[in-house]
Amino acid sequence: MDIKNINDIRKKVKTVKIGNILIGSDNPISVQSMTNTDTRDIKSTAEQIKSLENAGVDIVRLAVLDMDAAKAIKEIKKQTKVPLIADIHFDHNLALESMKSGIDALRLNPGNIKNKEKVKEVIKEAKDRNLTIRVGVNGGSLDRSIYKEVTAENMVKSAAEHIKLMEDLDFTNIKVSLKSSDIKTTIEANMLFRENFNYPIHLGVTEAGTLRSSLIKSTSALSFLIMQGIGDTIRYSITGDPLEEVMAGKMLLKFLGLRKEPSIEIISCPTCGRCQVNVEEVASFIEKHVQNIKKNITIAIMGCVVNGPGEARHADFGVAGTADGNFIFFEKNNEPIKVSRDNIIDFLTKKIEEF
Ligand code: SF4
Repeated sequence: MDIKNINDIRKKVKTVKIGNILIGSDNPISVQSMTNTDTRDIKSTAEQIKSLENAGVDIVRLAVLDMDAAKAIKEIKKQTKVPLIADIHFDHNLALESMKSGIDALRLNPGNIKNKEKVKEVIKEAKDRNLTIRVGVNGGSLDRSIYKEVTAENMVKSAAEHIKLMEDLDFTNIKVSLKSSDIKTTIEANMLFRENFNYPIHLGVTEAGTLRSSLIKSTSALSFLIMQGIGDTIRYSITGDPLEEVMAGKMLLKFLGLRKEPSIEIISCPTCGRCQVNVEEVASFIEKHVQNIKKNITIAIMGCVVNGPGEARHADFGVAGTADGNFIFFEKNNEPIKVSRDNIIDFLTKKIEEF
């Protein structure tokens, strides 16, 4: 398989719309995150969404726990730009109120609203407003009175039941997620769903843990599935700052060659006993600094001159540590320049600005 052509192997599925973002088929895989503020706290929630917007998020989800949270959406919408999804469990009134407040989509499992009339009411309102509903099947919350075990088959069966409830009401603006905290179950469930259904898939590994654990778990599952052409929108679920979720999602798509907008790539070595400079400090600072700079630059930050000049030649420019604890700066076709360790950050930030 030529992984440069992931888009060519993505199955043509139904396209759904969330605000101005199209999901499914040839549309770019979008990056989602979820606020961890109290949705009723309009100021903090809007501020968090704005910081996620600055980091490049495409869609943000909010938990709607009560009527006040559903009503707060109206003001939050006014203060923010990206499409918002209301996360609803069980209470159909919260879904109706969120739609009244101008939400762009819902995450709701219709089967959890036990009353058929109430389901009808929600679906009718969503249909009138041309909104999308995500069915979210999570291994942990699979109805154990029906499904004895959390298996990929049972997760897909559960999704199929929620879908049927909506299709019976002639509603097909559906997107589906099948998430388990287990990588293999997540992969199997999504592959099985893709074989049998034509709705777009929201990919993620649930309860993936703190930063390190989530990065490994989510990246393993997501990149495997995306390389099979499966997945139309993604979320890294990380215990901690949702900004990390956005950064991780954007980086994964960039590394898979699926995001074409200008961005700065930092290549840095793992360091070893030869290294006499603080590569981690310089690379971390520069990585944070360039987060929102829309330029296409590859920068190599290397620990020593053994591999440094070679890597720097492939990059647009780079630095390598010297035996006396300072740096040498390399740029294509130019003579290397010595830069002192005290000046390295200023020097690099200036170079990035001028590039
Ligand atoms: S570039 Fe130098 S310091 Fe970095 S890992 Fe390679 S040999 Fe070690």
